[in-house]
Amino acid sequence: MIQQRTLDHSIRCSGIGLHTGKKIELVLNPAEVDTGIVFIRSDLGIEIQGHVDSVVDTRLCTTIGKGEAKIATIEHIMSALAGLGIDNARIEVNGTEVPVMDGSASPFVFLIQCAGIVEQNKAKKVLRILKRVSIEDKDKSCALYPASGFRVSYLLDYPHPLLSNCKVSFDFSRQAYAREVGRARTFGFIHEVEALQKAGLALGGSMDNAVVLDKYGVLNTGGLRYADECARHKVLDTVGDLFLAGYPLVGAFEGERSGHAMNCAIVKALLADESAWVIEDLKEDVHTVSTQTSSQSITV
Ligand SMILES: [Zn+2]
Repeated sequence: MIQQRTLDHSIRCSGIGLHTGKKIELVLNPAEVDTGIVFIRSDLGIEIQGHVDSVVDTRLCTTIGKGEAKIATIEHIMSALAGLGIDNARIEVNGTEVPVMDGSASPFVFLIQCAGIVEQNKAKKVLRILKRVSIEDKDKSCALYPASGFRVSYLLDYPHPLLSNCKVSFDFSRQAYAREVGRARTFGFIHEVEALQKAGLALGGSMDNAVVLDKYGVLNTGGLRYADECARHKVLDTVGDLFLAGYPLVGAFEGERSGHAMNCAIVKALLADESAWVIEDLKEDVHTVSTQTSSQSITV
């Protein structure tokens, strides 16, 4: 039996919000079995389940909300939690978004590893995909279908020398999340960043927390962490968004030019078709992204 996992103890960090540019405190806490991932606006005392039903906005990032309380940019920490196989955690933030840190999931991977991961006295549950579900929107598409482990494939295709026809695929039963995907930073075009900042958005965005591109290449002096870093970041985002199903998935995802809106839409479409999935205890012979902690190396 594979057991549920949580953190050994609480750990905190602070960082800048990508959209507000304001300093935000984040505390990662252990949680009881079957809690799932719960976000807490510690300044308001409001809890929001890390579930697709809580999603209120998917423009620019994935935002969850309940009433007046919203928490934006949850996808990178959700991705780190999924990638390290954490089933239960309570995440406090004292503002409207999760701090962006360096634009990747690596600082959250580091935090979780520093807190320590403990097994809990109950079987880990996974959502196994039983039949193909797909959605399309003009030139964008994505699909979930049955597979024995957890695989994410993505086609990044922007009209840009570094971003055209870039296809990546990761089988997390064999490839370590933290090493292959967790370090990939978010990215944006300089003209978009300037337009967003004029509109009062992305106020915390800088080359410290994003790969910034002009029409020819990368403007960051340090260059890229992987040659296909932008495509890998789309996989990172997808791993985080798919975890909003409430359980780690056993199955495969294929996306073409998809983003947060489609990721959340396909999770909703999957959950709406009760013949397309089953919740079951994870057996030792089934790999998911969530079983890959032992061989990971971390670089932050
Ligand atoms: Zn992202």
